Amino acid sequence: MSARLVLLGPPGAGKGTQAVRLAERLGVPAISTGDIFRSNIKNGTELGRRVQDITASGALVPDELTNELVRDRLAQADAVDGFLLDGYPRNVAQVAALDEILAVTGRGIDLAIELTVDPQVVIERLTNRAQIEGRADDTEDVIRHRLGVYAEQTAPISQVYAARGLLVQVDGLGEVDDVTARLLAALSPVLP
Ligand code: AMP
Repeated sequence: MSARLVLLGPPGAGKGTQAVRLAERLGVPAISTGDIFRSNIKNGTELGRRVQDITASGALVPDELTNELVRDRLAQADAVDGFLLDGYPRNVAQVAALDEILAVTGRGIDLAIELTVDPQVVIERLTNRAQIEGRADDTEDVIRHRLGVYAEQTAPISQVYAARGLLVQVDGLGEVDDVTARLLAALSPVLP
């Protein structure tokens, strides 16, 4: 039985890097809605055209679109037993949508892990990433907007999972390997 996991934390917390590492160790797919949107934009698909301006502004893509995308992705064979969601859910309504998507399987999320980092560190990391990766949404104004969206819409999700007894918080500061080790330790209760 593989774990069904959600990785939470602000933009720049290192979720993407850690999600790939954890997923590899756990043998589950890392599913990043942001990556899915970016690859659609890159490939010029209809979905890509619909979300291009929204993602570039740092706003959230409408829930109906995002929820359907996740519903389809989680229905694929590799995600049936377990998965690690990175960047979804992103607001309280998406938490409810994910509950509903998973309800048909009779098994909900096993654990939500939140990577915590100092806001100043997040801004430095995102500014560095802008230089390395050249993401369209890593400019200073957009970074500020994304952090505002996070504080208003995404941060409250932690309380929802905490109230269900499913939240673990992990310090996201430090070397990548150290953070991975902390995450794996935090996950040990749900690992086979
Ligand atoms: P990320 O790579 O997770 O930082 O996502 C990049 C951008 O994709 C976000 O700023 C949003 O515009 C969009 N996005 C990613 N995940 C979601 C989501 N769960 N809901 C709405 N928009 C999302």
